[in-house]
Amino acid sequence: MPDLNDGESVEMQGSDAQPYVLTNTGGVYSCTCPAWRNQSLPIEQRTCKHLRKLRGDDAEQELGYFFRNSREMLHSCYARP
Ligand SMILES: [Zn+2]
Repeated sequence: MPDLNDGESVEMQGSDAQPYVLTNTGGVYSCTCPAWRNQSLPIEQRTCKHLRKLRGDDAEQELGYFFRNSREMLHSCYARP
């Protein structure tokens, strides 16, 4: 799947009935999923599984081991209000 151009958005089906919308705004990628929205990082530093899937981020591969073994922890972090 190609990267988005500035101002473009794409829908990606997640666990909700409604697909999540991934958007590139001036080089900052955002997603409408709770995992992205609930992160406390600045928006330009946030990511989520949808954005990693879209962009094929190298970081996803490097962090794959970490994520697989920390899924429960991350899930609880993302679930915080
Ligand atoms: Zn997402």
